[in-house]
Amino acid sequence: MKTINDFNFKDKKAIVRVDFNVPLDENFNVTDTNRIEGAKPTIDKILADGGSVILMSHLGRPKGKEEKYSLQHIVKTVSDVLGVPVQFASDCRGEIASNAAAKLLPRQVLLLENLRYYPEEEAGDVAFAKELASLGDIYVNDAFGTAHRAHASTTIIAQFFPENKCFGLLLAKEIESLNKVLNNSVKPVTAVLGGSKVSSKITVIENILDKVDHMIIGGGMTFTFVKALGGKIGDSICEDDKMELALEILKKAKEKGVQIHIPVDVVAADSFSNDANTQIVDVKEIPNGWQGLDAGPKSLENFRKVIMESKTILWNGPLGVFELEKFANGTIKLGEYIAEATANGAFSLVGGGDSVSAVKQFGLEDKMSYVSTGGGAMLEMLEGQTLPGIEAILS
Ligand code: AMP
Repeated sequence: MKTINDFNFKDKKAIVRVDFNVPLDENFNVTDTNRIEGAKPTIDKILADGGSVILMSHLGRPKGKEEKYSLQHIVKTVSDVLGVPVQFASDCRGEIASNAAAKLLPRQVLLLENLRYYPEEEAGDVAFAKELASLGDIYVNDAFGTAHRAHASTTIIAQFFPENKCFGLLLAKEIESLNKVLNNSVKPVTAVLGGSKVSSKITVIENILDKVDHMIIGGGMTFTFVKALGGKIGDSICEDDKMELALEILKKAKEKGVQIHIPVDVVAADSFSNDANTQIVDVKEIPNGWQGLDAGPKSLENFRKVIMESKTILWNGPLGVFELEKFANGTIKLGEYIAEATANGAFSLVGGGDSVSAVKQFGLEDKMSYVSTGGGAMLEMLEGQTLPGIEAILS
């Protein structure tokens, strides 16, 4: 796996795909700089070598050249985070881009205008990719968030750099972390899968059954399993058409020697709100008019034991409706158990959308071994898919 550490960028121009799709407020101020900070080590290394950096990214989903999606808005923030002045090219192709790139001196940084101003980007247009490629000597992909898309700047461009293409440090770290969990793991390995639906996680579950020793299934998915096993789930969320699948998963797990852990008790509520009345009930005995919205204390105690014995932990999806304070306890506790196991030497990876938000919201981010930056991309990797953006660098 070639990374930027395999290259010396002295007097070279690196064209770097980053994910600067950052949130902006109504005055176009960047409200979260995480993604820019994530790319900083890669940019720093190229500059330190004496190279120059041409940054390209998308921002939002513009329909044509919509000013509100201009990357001009983020130039100052990028400069502040990087600690160097950042030049801006008001077009990512044509003379504006090529002149700006040609004038770029070693140790200078240029940011190109939003790639998605051109539909050719998402269409994976070869001519567009070739134009982008002409701006640099070495192609670096450091955008994990878009690595599952075969877009011009994330995948197609790589063919114009048969020797001179590599991963940035952020993308390399994502791949490495996932490998540590799925391919080179220290046993016992535990996957915690939460979230709302079996249907959205089924491919992940099937793929990782071969890789884990324990699987904790929580969140809304719980009830499809419990109902399939004959339990009474009251008004809890359930996918009736997935009950057979749930039983099949349990059977497969047994065959493969994977221990499945499902909540035994839940926090049941009489409405989906912070003002609801709640009671702790057996997961198989939820009264009508009540719905399970968080894991109960006995379940959490069981999960704690499993987590504390694990040497490798993957966490995807919350254990309850953590967006409502009343039902956040299970997700917070789980995060704390994983943090404790990590402090004791386990490797923990949190990936995919909502669990990442939860970990950030509850201040546990620094206590995990690695928190993934890409929602959809991480899910696809967990599903066992080969991401086109990664494949393009490897091939
Ligand atoms: P996903 O996007 O599939 O990872 O699901 C995340 C969502 O699942 C979050 O918005 C949670 O609020 C929701 N969720 C977790 N547990 C439950 C539950 N017991 N009932 C309904 N929704 C849930």
